[in-house]
This record gives sequence, C-alpha cells and structure tokens, in this order.
Amino acid sequence: MDLDPIVQLSRNFGGNPDYVLAGGGNASQKEGDTIAIKASGVQLGTIDAAGFVQLSLSKLNALFTIELPLNSDEREKIVLEKMLAARLPGQAMRPSVETLLHALFPFRFVVHLHPALINGMLCSRAALSAAQALFGSEVAVLPYITPGYTLADVVRRIFETRTLSGQRPYKILFLQNHGVFVAADTTEEIKALYDHIFAVLKSKVRSLPAENEAVKRVPAAEKVSRANVLAAVEANSVKFNVRFFFTSNSIVSHFLTNPEAFKPLAAPFTPDHIVYAGAWPLFVSQSQAENPESLAEQINAYRARHDEPPKILAVENLGIFGLGKDDAAAGRACLLFTDAAKIAWYTEAFGGAHPMESADIEFIRNWEVEKYRSSIASKNNIAASGQ
Ligand SMILES: [Zn+2]
Repeated sequence: MDLDPIVQLSRNFGGNPDYVLAGGGNASQKEGDTIAIKASGVQLGTIDAAGFVQLSLSKLNALFTIELPLNSDEREKIVLEKMLAARLPGQAMRPSVETLLHALFPFRFVVHLHPALINGMLCSRAALSAAQALFGSEVAVLPYITPGYTLADVVRRIFETRTLSGQRPYKILFLQNHGVFVAADTTEEIKALYDHIFAVLKSKVRSLPAENEAVKRVPAAEKVSRANVLAAVEANSVKFNVRFFFTSNSIVSHFLTNPEAFKPLAAPFTPDHIVYAGAWPLFVSQSQAENPESLAEQINAYRARHDEPPKILAVENLGIFGLGKDDAAAGRACLLFTDAAKIAWYTEAFGGAHPMESADIEFIRNWEVEKYRSSIASKNNIAASGQ
C-alpha cells in the first residue's frame, strides 16, 4: 500500500498545535483487506511510513464474532493478543488501542484527534445535546465509553443500525470526554470536515485570553513570592526524587485566581489528561508553596489520598509545576494541563466543565494500555505519545 497520503495527512494535523497540542491521536488508511494505522507511541507530526503498522481488516472484524470474557482485564488481554495476531507478516509494532474503531469506518481514511476546541464541547455539561444540535443527524454522538474493545463494540452496533436504516454511514463520531473521529475517502474531505467542525465551534466559544493579559496582572511584589516558591519546589523535587517544570500563561492563570476559580480543573477531562498530567492536580496557596515543609506536607497528604505523587502542582496566582520522573515527563504534564485549561475555558460556552466520572478515572489509572503509552512516551523522550 502506498502510505504517502496518510503520512502527509498525519503530518498536516500533527504539526498544527490547534489539532495536536500534546494529546496525540491517530490516523489510518485502508486498501482492500489491509488497514495501516499509526503505531502506539509514534508521533503524528513527524511520522513516516515506518510509523504505521499494517493489519488484516477481516481478522480484526472477526474479533466481534468470538465469545469474549466478561471480565474487562481478561477481555482486553485477549483482544490485544488477537489484534497483534491480525498484523500482516513482518509487522512488529503495536497498533493503536483504537484500531478496531478505525476498522469499522467504511472509508479509506480515518483521523482521530483530541483538539482542545472540540473537547471544549465534548467535556462540557451540554456535550451530547450541543454536538447533536450544532452538527445534526449526520454525526454520531456517544457518551463516555471506555476506549478499546468496549467502545468499538458499541460503535459497531450503532453503525449497523445506521446501515439497516438505509442512511449514509457516519463520517463524524463525537465521543464525550474523549475526542472526535473523522472519516472520508479522500484526504481533502478529511481536512474539509475538520475545517467545518472548527468553524462551527469557533463561532460558539470565546477566544482564549491574549498572552500579555496575564503578564499585566502579575504585580511586581509577587516576583519575590515566585522566587520563594521556586526554591521550595526545588527542595521538594530533591526530597521526592522528581524533576519539575514551571509554566505560567494567560489561560492557566485564568483558573489560578482562587480555589473556586480552579474548580473546573480539579478533575480530569479525558484519558490523555490522566496519563500525562495525572488524574487530579494539587492546588496550593502561595503561602503553602513558599514554605518547603508545608509544601512537603501537602504532597504527602496527596500521596496518602491518591496512592501516587501529584503530576501537577498548581500554585494560586502563580502558575503550575509539572512533576515527573524526568524533564520530559514534567514538561508533558504542563502541556496537558494547559490543554485542560483551554478545554475548561471553552466549556463555558456549553454550560461549564464536565470531568470524567470517578469509575472511569479509576479504570484508566489502572489500564495496562495506558501504562504502556506513558512508558513509551518516556522512553522516546517525546512531548506526548498519542495512542
Ligand atoms: Zn483518543
């Protein structure tokens, strides 16, 4: 299969931070019985033909005809084995966890992304009704469903019903607290569909705050506080053996003015945010952050509550610290948390923020697939691995 069209399409989206900031995504191309899909851990923006893994469509679709265990761990294990077995001879990389879903679309190209603008609608209280009202009956809209086989099986049934009713297959699939799938037979149409979605949403949301607004809002006196906080975080990074990365920008600052303003960011919006920025940020006041001992107390209390250290330390009226086992992980946490802040901002146009449910958060925290993604991202030392 000539992979040039999907390589170019992937780079087109992957190189644009409005589409792929850090949360990744994936892309696929079909021909005959073969699907080529981005391998897990490869970045869309710099991908080449070697970053795609090729699988047999009929072997993938056969997965829906076998009896699978009800236990989700056992089921996902078998699904992964079967997916690996569906690879064409000589294909060694691990396909994206969403391969089954890509395979279901009866179109040559599928591009799945998590842009902040789109997630602003999909992570809002009005997500389901807004998506349907703005985009009509030609798009499918689904509530949050665990990614992987579970999601693919639900989508398979929805597509079947659509076909039976004699209607055209869906080219756009919106997933609550996750992102969007766009499918078409030409790369031009994929771009046109994304342009359409962006144009509709841009007319609904308020633009992000300009970068210089935040700078103006920081009084000179706070610079002293900033130096103290940096010193305290540095001391704690040694104590807890983590690296840290500081970020301050206008969109994050919007939510750091007080504990109430921070509420929309208190819980994760999508699985990507959990994987790279942690399920919950630790919000502290400047006085708590300035003192190394009180900061250590806050971090220890967090660890006792959540069984892991925080990946984001948010300091009131100052900025965020990404914490991670290396510099890349710390920087990645800040990128993903900035993405979450953009989403929270956009949700204001749709009734406010709607984070993932607790049970879904726990599932992702314990999911092997996501641990694999996180480890690959660290190994490759990249900003974010995608799916
Ligand atoms: Zn996704």
